[in-house]
Amino acid sequence: MSQVFYLASGNTHKAEEFSQLFDNSILDIKAADEKLEVIEDGLTFRENALKKAEAYFEKFGKPVMSDDSGLIVEALPDQLGIHTARYGGEGLESSQRNELLLDSMKEIEEGGMRAAYFVCVLCFYLSKSEIFFFEGRVQGHISTSISGEQGFGYDPVFIPTHGPEGLTLAEVPEWKNENSHRAVACQHAQKFFKERVGQN
Ligand code: IMP
Repeated sequence: MSQVFYLASGNTHKAEEFSQLFDNSILDIKAADEKLEVIEDGLTFRENALKKAEAYFEKFGKPVMSDDSGLIVEALPDQLGIHTARYGGEGLESSQRNELLLDSMKEIEEGGMRAAYFVCVLCFYLSKSEIFFFEGRVQGHISTSISGEQGFGYDPVFIPTHGPEGLTLAEVPEWKNENSHRAVACQHAQKFFKERVGQN
């Protein structure tokens, strides 16, 4: 029997995206009825994921799944990471953030310090005493130009190391679906909950 979790986000599109990443006979992710404003002032992805999960669990009293993700760029260690969504300031379009990122790295040659990775942390909050975290990463580097129309956020400037040669995530949506930081974190979670059901 599948285990139902409410996504700690009011975004129905995101709930749908997660539900496609899981085998719904194991994990069934539903959108929460209401969006809560949670201040993401944790110092790590894990802390922020926990803050969101706690807030939704306290409000709705049902098992919750939350996520937090971002991009870590080796050459700009303090600028993205947990601040990825606000890089360059509030209210910018993704294309503006991408241009700013390329501009900040224009002196850095291909390879070396252009290394970067995406990370996704999932928090499954079943009760105050049963909280599980799963993490996924995708390694790559920052391109020297914007390329590709698919995906979102920083996809057009991120070239995954193990993806199709030289293409950005925005050019390889099918590869991204199976190998992204989110997909990998979901695979870890699914394996864990599948084994857990088998043990009960
Ligand atoms: P959040 O976890 O949805 O808040 O995402 C944090 C930031 O990371 C946002 O600015 C996203 O644009 C960026 N981000 C997270 N996942 C991805 C991805 O798969 N592709 C591109 N950008 C991403």
